[in-house]
Amino acid sequence: MPCPWYRGGLCTSPKLPKPSSAVISPTRCQGGKAEYVACQFYVDPESGRKQRSPLEAGMRPAIAEQLRPYPPIHLVHTRPRSRCPFMKVYDYSGGYLAQCRVLNRLLTRSEVEICDKYWSSCPFYKLGLNQKTSEL
Ligand code: SF4
Ligand code: SF4
Repeated sequence: MPCPWYRGGLCTSPKLPKPSSAVISPTRCQGGKAEYVACQFYVDPESGRKQRSPLEAGMRPAIAEQLRPYPPIHLVHTRPRSRCPFMKVYDYSGGYLAQCRVLNRLLTRSEVEICDKYWSSCPFYKLGLNQKTSEL
């Protein structure tokens, strides 16, 4: 499995101001976990998620517990266009959260931008379509 921040030739780490190909290294970004966790731009996607309780978040407890939003990484202020059928958008704390139902996790701000622009060429979109087809 590649690094969870690796998307379409870009690093979407929240440590970067915007997605960039400048820091990409195929062996590290598309290697195993041992390679990518040592990267200076890697952030554990689970880190910080337990800092807000569902009530603080103002979200239905079951959903907040399931999605574990971390606003500095996940909260977007403009509603995503969500043209990808696998993106689900939630109103949250004065902004929005976007969940990818293929990855089954929240998308970071930079990922939401990429999904809005390039959803039709996203490998996870294609994977989602294949999964749906095989379920029929
Ligand atoms: S390994 Fe580092 S540079 Fe590569 S995608 Fe992950 S965080 Fe970004
Ligand atoms: S574009 Fe890809 S990553 Fe984004 S929501 Fe759709 S399937 Fe998920």
